[in-house]
Amino acid sequence: MSRQTNDPLRPGTLREFTGQPVLTGRLRVLLTAARSRGGMLDHVLLAGPPGLGKTTLAHVIAHELDVPLVPALGPGLETMAHAVTLLTGVTGPAVVFIDEIHRMGRAAEETLYAAMEDGRVAITVGDGPAAEIVRLDLPPMTVVGATTQMGLLSAPLRDRFGFAGHLAPYDEAALAGIAAANARRLGFDLTDQGALTLARRSRGTPRVLNQRLRLVRDVLHVEGRPAADDALVRDALDRFGIDELGLDDLGRGLLHALCVQFGGGPVGGAAWAASVNETERTLEAHEPYLMRAGLTQRTARGRVATPKAFGHLGLPAPAT
Ligand code: ADP
Repeated sequence: MSRQTNDPLRPGTLREFTGQPVLTGRLRVLLTAARSRGGMLDHVLLAGPPGLGKTTLAHVIAHELDVPLVPALGPGLETMAHAVTLLTGVTGPAVVFIDEIHRMGRAAEETLYAAMEDGRVAITVGDGPAAEIVRLDLPPMTVVGATTQMGLLSAPLRDRFGFAGHLAPYDEAALAGIAAANARRLGFDLTDQGALTLARRSRGTPRVLNQRLRLVRDVLHVEGRPAADDALVRDALDRFGIDELGLDDLGRGLLHALCVQFGGGPVGGAAWAASVNETERTLEAHEPYLMRAGLTQRTARGRVATPKAFGHLGLPAPAT
């Protein structure tokens, strides 16, 4: 079966998927068992921040089972009819991948978890007293749900997943390995030290790493240099405003606003995001890393900047 993705940097098999060793080890057991039974996997829930490989793993599972992947988006599944249309559109064994599954509507969710449990959907045919409930058998399917907010999933839906895996940010060595492999795929030389520097400035996230790897390639081509060594990687990232901690202009802008405009906080999320003309959704993408890097904290009274944040921006720490 094809990889069913246009992203040349997306790993297609479990073997090519670098990092997340605990999760991939468990998936390997489940996949091997399912293959030896000649059947499908129990439903899989993948949780974790954006860009860590949830969609990639859903494709990997489909590839390893040699079945197609049928993609859907949680926010597009509101009503029972939406869920029925999705499920009855599956014509043979398949992985049904629902991204942002925590954003499904209640009615769609109830239809889905009934189908996950007994492999059937109930459809009402006709109106009024003549209405009839028809139950349709579905082909064998594995539902793979991805979520960035496990806590927002309803308990009944969560319970229908036989396996839940959590993706954590990648360590530098894993990211450097991905950088080296992907530089080869993109057709340029990246030195070990260059790969490590790139990894350090990619916020533990393969999606961010791949975006930055492409910037490095572009600078390499423009400069006409033979290989992306440490100096070239630093120069490329500096030019695009990506600093030593991997923050980009927006991340630094947020930090600057918190330190300067709000005197280090505490401030509420909405006010903080608005101060750089962004919404709280943007904050959702940046704040986890700011916290992980020890630059900001969440307190009962709001977000605050740490002394490290002031130091990183070259600002004097406020008197306490
Ligand atoms: P998510 O669904 O968690 O937001 P994706 O699966 O879309 O993340 O991954 C984002 C990008 O990062 C993918 O296009 C892929 O190229 C890359 N990627 C993710 N995980 C890995 C990995 N373990 N190894 C190599 N590349 C990866």
